[in-house]
Amino acid sequence: MRIKIHPKAQLESAWKKDKTQYTPEAIQPPLCLRCGQPLHCSLSHNALSRHADVMVCSSCGMDEALRDAQGQPLPLLEWQAVKNGLQEMNIKGNDTFLTSLCTFSEVFEDSKRIGNSAQAHPVKEVVYSRSDYDGCKWWSTWFDCQKERPSQALCQEIDQFQTTLFQMPEMKTLDTMRQLCRFAQPTSSDSEFNLYSETEHFFIWLRLITRFRDYNLYVHYYLK
Ligand SMILES: [Zn+2]
Repeated sequence: MRIKIHPKAQLESAWKKDKTQYTPEAIQPPLCLRCGQPLHCSLSHNALSRHADVMVCSSCGMDEALRDAQGQPLPLLEWQAVKNGLQEMNIKGNDTFLTSLCTFSEVFEDSKRIGNSAQAHPVKEVVYSRSDYDGCKWWSTWFDCQKERPSQALCQEIDQFQTTLFQMPEMKTLDTMRQLCRFAQPTSSDSEFNLYSETEHFFIWLRLITRFRDYNLYVHYYLK
């Protein structure tokens, strides 16, 4: 399994293809993935994006710098190429994506309390993990949400996602996780974000909390 960030991975894959038009000049330069205008025909006259490993046009490069200074980057979902439907492309079977869009909101409609838990959990919730970063490493605790343990195959699927998630460079430290939050769904708190994913049998909600000395990550697994 590989976990990639949507639509960053799709943009980088599109740029890999666009880049082949430069040898090193491009007769017909590809379109800037961010604004949709043609790039400069000389590769080096374009700018490296601050948010994905792709070249953007020089005005987008300038706009990114200005927006970064104000702490208001343009979300990748607002990039022209993404709005044109890029997210439908390049999705390979083995890839699992983290995305800021929740496609399974119906899961949250039906909740109940489990055992002594003060909180209600969606009835489809199988298990969740709670992790914190202590400055050196991650510590995780698991919580069961069903009376019966999930089957071995389902446990393996959960383990595989969780292991792959923590192997991502973005999950190395709390600081790298903060960077990852640029691609996440903001909430009413400026230190809390959401990401969503899915595997063969699960919808997955990641709640990311960037405050040091707090619980920093909850990963909830809901049976499809
Ligand atoms: Zn541009």
